[in-house]
Amino acid sequence: MTSRRRFISLVPVLGAATLARAQAAPLVDPKDPQAQALGYTTEATKVDKAKYPKYAAGQSCASCALYQGKAGDKAGPCPLYAGKSVLPGAWCSAWVKRA
Ligand code: SF4
Repeated sequence: MTSRRRFISLVPVLGAATLARAQAAPLVDPKDPQAQALGYTTEATKVDKAKYPKYAAGQSCASCALYQGKAGDKAGPCPLYAGKSVLPGAWCSAWVKRA
């Protein structure tokens, strides 16, 4: 097999591996026990302020020190929800101001 043919035969394999890496972890389900325990909500503006008086306008995962997504990402990892992604506009009671 020539090296060109071998390269062409590997393209689908390399493409699949790249796609797998590009796929984000699944989103946190607000019904997950951990999410419920921390009051995770997908829209920070809809936080129950009576239940979570610590919440203040402007707080969201995007402004949280624990959020590991980059600006512009549709979702990103949070160490409190291993293997899952959180939305930048979401919020939970573990929010910590980003330095
Ligand atoms: Fe979002 Fe921060 Fe809560 Fe993680 S700890 S879910 S980044 S608010």
